[in-house]
Amino acid sequence: MGTPISELGEFKLIDRLTSSFPKYHAETIVGIGDDAAVLKINPTEYTLVTTDILVEGIHFNLVYTPLKHLGYKAVAVNLSDIAAMNGTPKYITVSIAISAKFSVEAMDQLYSGILAACKKYEVELIGGDTSSSMTGLMISITAIGKALPEDIAYRSSARVNDLICVSGNLGASYLGLQLLEREYRLFKNEPDIQPDFSTKEYLLERQLKPEPRFDVLKELRKAGIKLHAMIDISDGLSSEINHICQKSNVGAKIYAHKIPIDATTAITAEEFNMPPETAALHGGEDYELLFTTSTEHLNKLLAIPSISIIGRITEASEGVKLVLQGGNEIDLSNKGWDAFLQKS
Ligand code: ADP
Ligand code: MG
Repeated sequence: MGTPISELGEFKLIDRLTSSFPKYHAETIVGIGDDAAVLKINPTEYTLVTTDILVEGIHFNLVYTPLKHLGYKAVAVNLSDIAAMNGTPKYITVSIAISAKFSVEAMDQLYSGILAACKKYEVELIGGDTSSSMTGLMISITAIGKALPEDIAYRSSARVNDLICVSGNLGASYLGLQLLEREYRLFKNEPDIQPDFSTKEYLLERQLKPEPRFDVLKELRKAGIKLHAMIDISDGLSSEINHICQKSNVGAKIYAHKIPIDATTAITAEEFNMPPETAALHGGEDYELLFTTSTEHLNKLLAIPSISIIGRITEASEGVKLVLQGGNEIDLSNKGWDAFLQKS
């Protein structure tokens, strides 16, 4: 028997598999390790490349995910990685593996969602691949974009004393998923029950139809705010701030009471007996932008309603900390915060 992959975890596995690959091309500015690869094919406008895979039963449950939404989301999450570099998306390729349970009309639905996202973000579908599958539906999308070299926000560009900012609000998508999963469990036992999601539509929308935050990037550009480091929040704030800190060799203090949480998210978290902060820190799939920038932009940032300043970058030796309202600090690396928050 070999080593279980769970023993290594996703990031150590990627390291182990990829670290011995040689570099041949001077055009590779960044390969593995950021939201997208950065290629200097044209010296005045860099090319961005990113790819994501969605697997039935792992990333989506078709009982409560309309195929049109799934197509839209598959594109949106890829474009979010282009947004996370402060780039502009241009092209996608779409590869699908389909099992026998899917009809032609079902695939039409999937592609109507892909088309809607392509139209909304002015992205061209330029290729892909189609295969049959034994186990269900799989969608892999690659997005190609561009960015001016001086605009690109790498995970590695955070500087000590930077402000840490986040767009929108956090935790809504996770609670949307919890609601859908709860109704799914009820439905399995009593198929006649109709789910009641009234007052929770916002949470479902955040889970089923996330949007990459190009609107926020536009506002930041308009305000003349130069971004340092940036990442999109796919796995949860606590995981993403650790990525920025590791790549930038810095520490961070996040102020718990500054983390933006929507009222419906907070109320629903309480219904699930979960501190709202846990959903916001650890939930994931928000596809909001987490970025750092110089303190000189403080007033401009305060004037943008869709942005919250949630902390600051510190020396690496100070670690990655969550500061609670009373001033106590919890280690945010390795989910050290989780057990503590459950108790409080
Ligand atoms: P994100 O959450 O932004 O999509 P990931 O955490 O999935 O990023 O990936 C981190 C980095 O590892 C990226 O640069 C990605 O391209 C790379 N990567 C992930 N899986 C593989 C793989 N199987 N082989 C090579 N590179 C990979
Ligand atoms: Mg990302």
